[in-house]
Amino acid sequence: MKSTTRRDFLKMMGMTGAACLACAAPLSASTGPAGESETAIAMLYDATKCVGCKACMAACKRVNMEQNNLSYEYLPTDGDKLWDAPKDLSGDTRTVIKLYKESDTRFSYVKHSCMHCTKPGCVSACPVKAMTKDPVTGVVAYNKNACIGCRYCQVACPYNIPRFQWDKALPQIVKCDFCKDTNLKAKGMPACSETCPAGAIAFGKRTDLLAEAHNRIKENPDRYIPKVYGEKEVGGANHLYLAAFPFQKLGLPELKEESPAAFSEHIQHTIYKGFIAPVALYGTLAAIALRNKKKQEDLGHGEDD
Ligand code: SF4
Ligand code: SF4
Repeated sequence: MKSTTRRDFLKMMGMTGAACLACAAPLSASTGPAGESETAIAMLYDATKCVGCKACMAACKRVNMEQNNLSYEYLPTDGDKLWDAPKDLSGDTRTVIKLYKESDTRFSYVKHSCMHCTKPGCVSACPVKAMTKDPVTGVVAYNKNACIGCRYCQVACPYNIPRFQWDKALPQIVKCDFCKDTNLKAKGMPACSETCPAGAIAFGKRTDLLAEAHNRIKENPDRYIPKVYGEKEVGGANHLYLAAFPFQKLGLPELKEESPAAFSEHIQHTIYKGFIAPVALYGTLAAIALRNKKKQEDLGHGEDD
């Protein structure tokens, strides 16, 4: 009988690995975009309407200042400390307007804030449930009283949204929560949406806003690129975007439709159930290899490479 060499053994192990991957394949196939619930609320930011006034940023900070212990960010040249001028999201800023400029006549503003993902990485990563997603509204919210400051949510967010207050005595994670406990509670919509003078930030049911976004594209094909950002990225989001430029140029990441959060959770919950068979197979292969090695030694053959 032909004995098994180390090369054969490694080949078999490789085939076994492939078999295991084949077992795992249906996991990824079953974790495609699930979409958001019918009751989810959302925001539709239309970059072609935004005039860059940053009134939304000011309103966001004013309304959420106390709850999130935010501070104003002044430029060194602003001796009178009149203007809040954050350049990016930070431990003091939950939403920011940036400029993308190709020329004096070709440019776009773009708003950055939490996407309120359908399958949020921050929620999956948080070990103490300080990040939660409301199953009815879809709002992803932060609980400063539960947070232990590990910042796993920062690492897990595909949009690089959560920021940490490094300079505060009692630091918090800072990100948009659709003004859940402030403007949304008091006035039925986030402060940015209420304040925008250009009508660039629509707020309402996600299903309605998604239909509205596709309708705007259909009726104005020359104005928009034909895509609603946030519809499908990493399983979808409740912050939707329309724009005249490719979203990657505006600083929004190109992401797959599948959510890594959902995929890793799925693996955690299912792969170990099927672990017994591969372990048994590896054990059998190891026994065969040892038996053949012993046979070779008995016959006086050396190990090949
Ligand atoms: S954008 Fe980031 S912080 Fe916001 S819900 Fe998604 S993963 Fe969480
Ligand atoms: S308030 Fe409206 S127009 Fe002004 S920067 Fe914000 S989104 Fe743009």
